[in-house]
Amino acid sequence: MLSLILASANAHKAQEFKELFSGSIEVTPALKTLEVDETGTTFTENAFLKAKAYYEACKAPTLADDSGLIIESLPDILGVQSARFAPELSLYTEKCQSILKLLESKEDRRAYFVCVLCFYLSPEEVYFFEGRVYGVIGAESRGEHGFGYDPIFVPERKENDGKSLAELPQWKNEFSHRAKASSAALQFLKESVDKTQKKS
Ligand code: IMP
Repeated sequence: MLSLILASANAHKAQEFKELFSGSIEVTPALKTLEVDETGTTFTENAFLKAKAYYEACKAPTLADDSGLIIESLPDILGVQSARFAPELSLYTEKCQSILKLLESKEDRRAYFVCVLCFYLSPEEVYFFEGRVYGVIGAESRGEHGFGYDPIFVPERKENDGKSLAELPQWKNEFSHRAKASSAALQFLKESVDKTQKKS
């Protein structure tokens, strides 16, 4: 089984990957957290910077996730800077409230999450996969599951019941930005193994 070191200290991401790759890829949180400057202007660049830094420190294949929330009517906040929004607020419950306030005067509440995964297997073998989930920012914070901005993000679902990602752990596991990027990665890796086996 492919074994990767997770280039992140985010325990929530680690738990999601454990479930998403269960039985296919072993993802182990890094023993030591590195302070990687996320100087890129895209999710892809930042995922690459993290994966490469952990690869060089750990001398082993790594998996990095760079992700964030994009709010259509607030293009200058969040995005690649999602983890660094409102640093004066220490809790995500406060950051979510601050976003709800900023949106009070806006009609357009459309938003989406992006996740870019970088599989850094060696300097010659680096792969990227992207997933997105579309929805709106709800009227209030709801739910206890997940992390970050999950309580204010209401994904597009046929049920249309206004539930936030923080109320939909099972759904998130199947259809989130991270789930879609992970599923694309699994598909690609499976096809690569099949091709290699056919050749030998
Ligand atoms: P980074 O990828 O570690 O730079 O940070 C991504 C940031 O985006 C997180 O700290 C969260 O604030 C937010 N984010 C990314 N994915 C999710 C998610 O699945 N749910 C809620 N917030 C997320």
